[in-house]
Amino acid sequence: MTIERRELPYPQPLPISSNDMERRVETAQWSAESAKQVGLSLEGSSPETILRRGFEQFAPSIVMATGFGPEGIVLMHLVSEIRPETLVFYLDTDLLFAHTYELRDELVRRLGIRFERVHSGLSLPVQALRHGDKLWERDPDSCCQIRKVIPQRQFLANYSAWITGIRRDQTAFRANTGVVEWDYANKMIKLNPLAAWTSDQVWEHIQTHNLPYNPLHDYGYPSIGCWTCTKAVEPGQDPRSGRWAGKAKTECGIHLPSIKK
Ligand code: SF4
Repeated sequence: MTIERRELPYPQPLPISSNDMERRVETAQWSAESAKQVGLSLEGSSPETILRRGFEQFAPSIVMATGFGPEGIVLMHLVSEIRPETLVFYLDTDLLFAHTYELRDELVRRLGIRFERVHSGLSLPVQALRHGDKLWERDPDSCCQIRKVIPQRQFLANYSAWITGIRRDQTAFRANTGVVEWDYANKMIKLNPLAAWTSDQVWEHIQTHNLPYNPLHDYGYPSIGCWTCTKAVEPGQDPRSGRWAGKAKTECGIHLPSIKK
């Protein structure tokens, strides 16, 4: 199988409704403790229940994030049934696999997902001029900060809550993930409806509902990010060991801020 990088035209973002422009609802009444208590009360609930509670509380000021992994596919399926107008954003680093863009387009066709492309505004050539060529090889933390963390932080500043697909058994860092958390860095609520799910549950849902997924998963790529920082792994290896392989880095940084510094 040839893994190629191919530039595809970006779709124009769909119009944002006037409801979305109301943006942030009041989150002052929320604290890390109250978020934790709500999360504990929802522990053991289905992802659908957690999503419904989130929408009841925060819509329209709630968005979903996806990196187009299998967890995101499950959540997009559920969101498309519960609140199909929900905006789903992805961080376009200009370095995603062609398969990822093709999956995005398939999700629009199959599930009617309303995507928002979030971008740094910095082209790769300009980044190379300012920071040197192939920054991801020399300083991946800075590269992720520029192309993912800062654009996401700016985007999320307009909302009160976001939904992610992270799971507790993905990494040691994610082991204590709550289904509802206070996100310190973004000063907002973070919903992780699949926190307690296993990888097997995720794949069973995808197969049961015949949902599309990135074909690279069938070729040794259990976790997929930028093509520059993603490698195939051998069977039995840590599924995330193909991300920033050979480096100490295990997270791009967009989920780190949930921990109070
Ligand atoms: S994953 Fe790699 S290429 Fe993508 S933003 Fe992070 S360091 Fe840069």
